[in-house]
Amino acid sequence: MTTIQPARAGEFAVHDPGSGDLVGQYPVHTAAQVRDTVERARIAGAWWAGLSYQARGQRLDRFRGVLARRAAQLAGVIHDETGKPHSDAMLEIALTLDHLAWAAKNAPKVLGPRRARTGLMMANHVATVGYKPYGVVGVIGPWNYPVFTPLGSIAYALAAGNAVVFKPSELTPGTGAWLVEAFAQVVPEHPVLQLVTGDGSTGAALCGAGVDKIAFTGSTATAKKVMAACAPTLTPLVAECGGKDAVLVDADADLDAAADAAAWAGMANAGQSCIGAERVYVHERVYESFLSKLVAIAGKARAGSDPGAQLGPITLDRQVEIIRRHIDTAVAAGGRVVLGGSDTISGNVVQPTILVDVPEDAPAVTEETFGPTLTVTSVRDMDEAVELANATGYGLGATVFSRRGKQLAGLLRCGMVALDSVFSYPRIPSLPFGGCGDSGFGRIHGPDGLREFAYAQSVARQRFTAPLALTTFARTPKTDALVAKVMTLLHGRH
Ligand code: NDP
Repeated sequence: MTTIQPARAGEFAVHDPGSGDLVGQYPVHTAAQVRDTVERARIAGAWWAGLSYQARGQRLDRFRGVLARRAAQLAGVIHDETGKPHSDAMLEIALTLDHLAWAAKNAPKVLGPRRARTGLMMANHVATVGYKPYGVVGVIGPWNYPVFTPLGSIAYALAAGNAVVFKPSELTPGTGAWLVEAFAQVVPEHPVLQLVTGDGSTGAALCGAGVDKIAFTGSTATAKKVMAACAPTLTPLVAECGGKDAVLVDADADLDAAADAAAWAGMANAGQSCIGAERVYVHERVYESFLSKLVAIAGKARAGSDPGAQLGPITLDRQVEIIRRHIDTAVAAGGRVVLGGSDTISGNVVQPTILVDVPEDAPAVTEETFGPTLTVTSVRDMDEAVELANATGYGLGATVFSRRGKQLAGLLRCGMVALDSVFSYPRIPSLPFGGCGDSGFGRIHGPDGLREFAYAQSVARQRFTAPLALTTFARTPKTDALVAKVMTLLHGRH
């Protein structure tokens, strides 16, 4: 039974997308409150940055332990707020734990001071580079993976020595609150990780609240607003946005594996994954065979709000109309539904849908659908597949099933490629995660993800006075002549 209730004054209500039940009420933090939170974070951040990498790593390890022991409880909160199946929520938490472990362990190696070569002209110097935390990082997260995605920034920002102010999506504040409370258990001394809740205006307030960096994950449209809000204060930004990822299936591919992977990439989490596949390009020689395998596999997956369903409901109500429009306009333009379709949409439950013969300029091919839909298109060869896969402003990820996988990966314009498997790169903590073009810029995860939350500081120390004194007004014409000679010797032969 649906029991939508109004929110209390100054608060907003969160409802289970499956049942409609009220699952929590949270404050809408004002701009002044957000600013106060950032000020508290600055003090906490100075303390946190003063700890050694090892000391911070120990706290992050203990945080990981809390998450692992209380995973079922956290999965319950994720399920209530997003509607995703409990087992998918557990999987999301499991993947997050690997990242926490990696960031804690590798921060000293990646960010600790290291020697740099000086070159001949500066041989009298010792050069080192180290990384310093920015201070306070504002993390703005989405609702679709409310643990894995924001922690992809939070864990790396904390490991680098920053304090974090986290603004979760207004659909998943309870998950954010759970994480912040769990972290406070292991770091009770100072509010190193804090929460602000509210709608988009709270996120906008965070961008202008004096933070030293923003890590944003969400849609491209919102990323542009965030970038504009960061511009007046020159606040740096890492932006992880949406995608329109493609699966490429070559004539020599293992079709069973490719069909299984494409079904998962397109339908898992009800298609609400930034790296979810939305388009499949298949070599014409294996097109029919692949399609029948894909339809058979995807046809067995059922969406619903009951515990037996493999796909949950669409979390964001208004997304259902976007999914319906993409299906209907594809059909109006000559496409055919071979599985699911808009007739099978009931409330916010969308059954797995496969479309064929869809023109390449239809919204189902050009815009992010963010639902359990796939367009499947026959191509003459993999050159055409690459060309079509690249014909989008997005550039997040791609999946390739081909013996020429490595070569094709090099031709794809995107930040991440999975060869012969699916959703593999985010499960490898040492691999940077992010895209190009409309999919954003900067990286989370891996060494690049740690460096994203720290700035390089170069130090050059003079060990002894150089025979050639260059940076002095006492420099002589003889020195200039010598420099000219050395320059010619070193570089003139090129
Ligand atoms: P949105 O862009 O709507 O929102 C993302 C976050 O930004 C939310 O916390 C939102 O708050 C906040 N926000 C909204 N308006 C503003 C503003 N003006 N200033 C600052 N913050 C603001 O995305 P969704 O939450 O709907 O997430 C889905 C999108 O995220 C999809 O496009 C998906 O592809 C992308 N995504 C990308 C990922 C990646 O790593 N590349 C990973 C996961 C998702 P509120 O919810 O309260 O409005």
